[in-house]
Amino acid sequence: MRLLLQFPEGLKQQALAYAKSLEKDGNEVSVSASPTFGACDLAIDEARSINADKLIHFGHAEFHRVDFNVEYVEYNVDAPLGILAESLDAILDYGTIGLVTTIQHIHQIDAITEFYERNGKKVVIGKPYGFAKKPGQILGCDVGSAASIDRDVDAFVYFGGGMFHPLGALLSTTKPFIVVEPFANKVEVIDRYRKLYAGRSRGKVMKAVDAKSFGILLTTKNGQHNEALARILKARIEQDGLTACVLTSNTFDFVSLENMREFDAFVNTACPRIAIDDTDRISKPLLSANELMEVLRMKKELAEIRAKR
Ligand code: SF4
Repeated sequence: MRLLLQFPEGLKQQALAYAKSLEKDGNEVSVSASPTFGACDLAIDEARSINADKLIHFGHAEFHRVDFNVEYVEYNVDAPLGILAESLDAILDYGTIGLVTTIQHIHQIDAITEFYERNGKKVVIGKPYGFAKKPGQILGCDVGSAASIDRDVDAFVYFGGGMFHPLGALLSTTKPFIVVEPFANKVEVIDRYRKLYAGRSRGKVMKAVDAKSFGILLTTKNGQHNEALARILKARIEQDGLTACVLTSNTFDFVSLENMREFDAFVNTACPRIAIDDTDRISKPLLSANELMEVLRMKKELAEIRAKR
């Protein structure tokens, strides 16, 4: 069989070993060397262009249905659970905990739940909106497992590494949020980021209020491509007498966007995290669709105030 293997950045160091093992079974194997952001970013075009029979995507669960033969190889990581004892101080005042984690540790969610229950906590596990597939699992773009139980819990515990996943869940919830990092052996309350990111969002909106031309980012990544939204936003901007153009790329390069000096602001329709995490990488405001609507509302208000003077 002719195979294309695709690995997220953290697993690319294992590509050669997997390729050689599959070759031994008689397969003809290539490895995608392109950056990979998630199962939203399947290398189907590459697979088709080399006439692959199958794409094997490592490290993520299925994200969306595609018309290509894709096998998903999830990557479970057995994290040490000793850190849970240290997290008890941080959740001392909270009786009911919402527990979330990533696909790498989802197989440990029962053991983590059991630990907290043994220590007198009630544990609630929420359901994802749909891109994530398992109860308690969160993705950067699917924090349903947290947001859906915000009313039912006193605090959240995220078990796993890094800030990318818990940050999305934090910004979609209102309760105290504790990150328990098993490998860094660290417990951290991250509530302060809510205010920080709200301020950043406000800053972008204020900066974009004088914008007259908008570049709308439309990615060709199969799980992030949202042409309908891009066209709706373009029409909405033009309805207010402003200029808009849809800009297409697979992976947006911020230097190239900076070179497009005719645009005063950019609007994201790709991975929703771009308008949250990457705003420092570009000097022009990089807005979400909701932030764009706020900009247009404020523009209208300002125009009415000026007209009355
Ligand atoms: S957060 Fe972005 S990169 Fe991650 S799965 Fe969602 S769309 Fe893909």
